[in-house]
Amino acid sequence: MSFIISSLISILGRYLKPLIKIKSSSVIPNHWSTLSCSLRITTNLQFGSDAIKMASTDFGNIITSNIPSAVLFPSHIDDIINLITLSYTSTTPFPIAARGHGHSVRGQATARDGVVVDMKSLNNSSVGTTVSWSSSLGFYADVGGEQLWIDVLSATLEHGLAPVSWTDYLYLTVGGTLSNAGMSGQAFCYGPQISNVHELDVITGKGEFFTCSKHINSELFYAVLGGLGQFGIITRARIVLDKAPKRVKWVRMLYHDFSAFTRDQEHLISIIGVDYVEGHLLMNQSSANNWRSSFFSPNDVSNISSLLSQHKIIYCLEVVKYYDDLTVHTIDKELKELLQGLSFNSGFMFQKDVTLMDFLNRVRSGELKLQSQGLWDVPHPWLNLFVPKSEIFEFHEGVIVNMIHARNITRGPVLLYPTNRKGWDDRMSAVTPDEDIFYSIGLLLAGNNDNWKAMDDQNNDILEFCEKAGIRVKQYLPHYTTRREWINHFGEKWNTFQERKTLFDPKMILSPGQRIFQSV
Ligand code: FAD
Repeated sequence: MSFIISSLISILGRYLKPLIKIKSSSVIPNHWSTLSCSLRITTNLQFGSDAIKMASTDFGNIITSNIPSAVLFPSHIDDIINLITLSYTSTTPFPIAARGHGHSVRGQATARDGVVVDMKSLNNSSVGTTVSWSSSLGFYADVGGEQLWIDVLSATLEHGLAPVSWTDYLYLTVGGTLSNAGMSGQAFCYGPQISNVHELDVITGKGEFFTCSKHINSELFYAVLGGLGQFGIITRARIVLDKAPKRVKWVRMLYHDFSAFTRDQEHLISIIGVDYVEGHLLMNQSSANNWRSSFFSPNDVSNISSLLSQHKIIYCLEVVKYYDDLTVHTIDKELKELLQGLSFNSGFMFQKDVTLMDFLNRVRSGELKLQSQGLWDVPHPWLNLFVPKSEIFEFHEGVIVNMIHARNITRGPVLLYPTNRKGWDDRMSAVTPDEDIFYSIGLLLAGNNDNWKAMDDQNNDILEFCEKAGIRVKQYLPHYTTRREWINHFGEKWNTFQERKTLFDPKMILSPGQRIFQSV
């Protein structure tokens, strides 16, 4: 902490205006308090154990040692500009990490010995979600980087509009998902969330504020999208909107044959008319319903259990077709045509008819249930991978069958669905396999203090197996510990990634918890 204090002292001479406001309820270490009062600083920095504890961990509940010196609760984006400028102009710059909703799993939003910026505090001063229209862009929403996607959805639905690309879970911030990609079953059609942004406001690692887009400050725009928080803090995003469908036909089909399952998934993402395609696996230890959505009736669950007892793994294809008042009379016929010829196990097609909100927010009820059982804040050694289509069978045999199923230690949903690379712009920082179609795999593991390490060991075995077998996986929401791994991850994008870091965050202040430039 001493370097933060010395930075503060050295920089204050140049700051005539008040920097930040101190929360009176904070437990402030004496030296900070004295310093702050004597120098007449007003700050929103907190040092209390609750704030520090909150900012030291995340949804993963695995990394707990990245303890920051302070947490900034900004009431305006100027507070963030001042904080970053303070660090940047100091002789001993200190690390700073934006924390969206802290739903990373490996400490990516932490800043050991630095300052974590709690983005949610911007809520009152930010743009919130404002809907507009222009002849060049059509409908769009200006959204604060700290906004949760659930709030963006609620606000845009009031105008009969909605974003087109989603994540499965909506209690994530706009800045947090745009720093990764924002993936769900709509990505095959619209691209990930990062492909559906017109414009961003960003505070760089030099404390400079820029508006950027494909046309203005484009280098910063592409750097930040999928940039793992390395180049700047997103304070506003202009998001693509479309007319919101009223209702959703939500279908699940079960397969015992992996080859038929993937063939049908790939067929569905190749045709026009389908709005969402995903898939997940049911294995001996998993239940047909899980926290990601309670879909099946008790009667269905029992039929599925007996199917599962005959086959070691069952594959569940999930497909959605939107409809509204205009198509209400034709939707069933359209859906039937879209699904005809698919090779799911006879008698194992299930359907639901729900509102758009109920579909998009499908994970929330499972979350609340787990929270009430004390099972939400447990260790989550998640592994998310992108696997090229040409290697998915080898991955299935080596990883799904011979490791995950055979070892039977995996607890939690396993997602597996294809998507199109054409929806991703190569100028963005996000990384995908170099094939037109690749699979998104999510091992969404939940453990306890006794068993999460075994699951994590399995994750390492999976990565080692892929490397040895020459399966060219890319981690999504990546987590590495060595520079060699990061260079390998970014591949031919690494040089650009490094150059952009030098340009926008030369003192390597931002998002140190990603462990790309610091601590490697
Ligand atoms: P945080 O964890 O707070 O931050 C993530 C990173 O982004 C950090 O490096 C942080 O410093 C940086 N950051 C945060 N805010 C900003 C900002 N405003 N500007 C710049 N950098 C910033 N992902 C998907 O793609 N699809 C899914 O379906 C999906 N489902 C999920 C379900 C659950 C239950 C959970 C826990 C995660 C899921 N994720 C999914 C992963 C999620 O998108 C990422 O972990 C995302 O980073 C979480 O957002 P957050 O707001 O919590 O970010």
